[in-house]
Amino acid sequence: MAEQFDVVVIGGGPGGYVAAIRAAQLGMKTACIDMFTGKDGKQALGGTCLNVGCIPSKALLDSSKHYHHLQHDYGDHGINAGDVSFDVSKMLGRKDGIVKQLTGGVAGLFKANKVTAFHGKGKLLANREVEVTVSGSEDVTKLEAKFVILASGSEPIAIPGVEFDGEYIVDNVGALEFSETPKRLGVIGAGVIGLELGSVWSRLGSDVILLEALPDFLPVVDEDVARAAARDFKKQGLDIRLGTKVKKAEVRKGVVHVTVESGDEESVLEFDRLLVAVGRRAYTEGLLSDDCGVKLTERGQVEVDSQSRTSDENVWAVGDCVRGPMLAHKASEEGIAVAEIIAGMPAHIHFDTVPWVIYTDPEIAWVGKNEKELREEGIEFNTGSFPFAATGRGLALGNASGMVKLLADAETDELLGAHIVGASASELIAECVVAMEFHGSAEDLARIVHAHPTLSEAIHEAALNLDKRAIHRVNK
Ligand code: FAD
Ligand code: AMP
Repeated sequence: MAEQFDVVVIGGGPGGYVAAIRAAQLGMKTACIDMFTGKDGKQALGGTCLNVGCIPSKALLDSSKHYHHLQHDYGDHGINAGDVSFDVSKMLGRKDGIVKQLTGGVAGLFKANKVTAFHGKGKLLANREVEVTVSGSEDVTKLEAKFVILASGSEPIAIPGVEFDGEYIVDNVGALEFSETPKRLGVIGAGVIGLELGSVWSRLGSDVILLEALPDFLPVVDEDVARAAARDFKKQGLDIRLGTKVKKAEVRKGVVHVTVESGDEESVLEFDRLLVAVGRRAYTEGLLSDDCGVKLTERGQVEVDSQSRTSDENVWAVGDCVRGPMLAHKASEEGIAVAEIIAGMPAHIHFDTVPWVIYTDPEIAWVGKNEKELREEGIEFNTGSFPFAATGRGLALGNASGMVKLLADAETDELLGAHIVGASASELIAECVVAMEFHGSAEDLARIVHAHPTLSEAIHEAALNLDKRAIHRVNK
């Protein structure tokens, strides 16, 4: 007989494993099925984020940033580092160690919370029966669940004419594993992943060219912020070619020949490695039987309502496999909300206050609407900004580029958006998220005491500037 559970979660990424832990905390007998296998051949919970996404990319971003600072910035502090070198295999080893620590941590949390983990591929059948094909064998186990949560994540999008080969033409997985710095690295897509992984290898010595089909740089980001970031990236040597569409790529004698179209002109660029980072799409291969009652959208995502419920009322879906931003924290918060709804609690997510971060140097972070969106929606707003160059802390750090920009409703002063480009933007944005979640106003931020000297003073001063009363800049 099939083993019975209250909740079966398919997928053990930040959507699935968090949902499983929360369901177990709420007293439900819970299983989580995940098919990811780590480098040691064993199950590695945590999905894309922990294994081949957020965490390993940040580990390499931090290692490469130290190297870059040693080479270019420490001299200004009066520190002479001499000849600096690096060992890629040690850097990759450090990254792998962090991944192992975190994926092992999830396994430990499962044990402590009595979540049963299955290593294999899960498929939802009719009546919430779930079939598990055990990894590394032909064995099939069947589970029965009162409730199912689908959290199967996403996969990289491929471009027609540009085939992944795992060595020369790679996705995020390959670009986190180069055993030596490619001399010439091509990156297709100047979005979040392209910019982050392009930065890693550029800091480690690659000549990086980013090929971006759109005419504007980072169109999802506030225009002032995108412009400031583009200036800094250019100074760092990132060659970002906008309006450049990749048509095809071929590997000949270890060189990747990439055909691009820019305006009416077609040309061929040569690289040693090519990273394709043109976005991700929901991964649902083999997830659903025809009679399971769950529908997919035209875009191939699992169809859900605003509470993440699918077309079967006892099946939910969260994270990258459904609508909304493909972000780990969005997936996790959906997972928690769904577990609580199943347990009969009220729960919801405010998609309007989900923060976004790009972990380049400078970092880019934002929450809420940008100027262009507000203008398009016909909302009257006031804007205030403040440069980090006018903060004592930014200058002391030796990293004072960038700024904070706040947008607030012209009538009510409620904060509508916050946009930061600069050091620690990823951490600073949290204050703005809290303020917006509490429907705070720019005046609220202006009246909160901010420690001196900190980068957060730029948020304080931007809020004051919105009312033309910043102290450390001329108010315009
Ligand atoms: P996933 O993390 O993809 O997990 C899904 C899991 O389900 C996987 O382990 C998969 O193997 C498994 N699975 C799929 N189908 C089945 C099945 N049928 N049976 C069993 N198991 C199955 N987001 C951020 O917020 N911050 C970042 O800094 C960030 N950096 C990123 C960097 C890179 C290079 C990439 C690629 C992504 C990054 N992301 C980041 C995005 C983030 O990784 C995803 O939004 C997040 O992992 C989504 O979580 P999820 O649980 O929906 O899916
Ligand atoms: P993101 O959605 O943040 O992962 O960014 C992916 C980027 O890749 C987007 O800015 C797309 O415009 C870009 N892109 C998609 N297809 C192509 C292509 N064929 N050539 C160049 N850039 C592309």
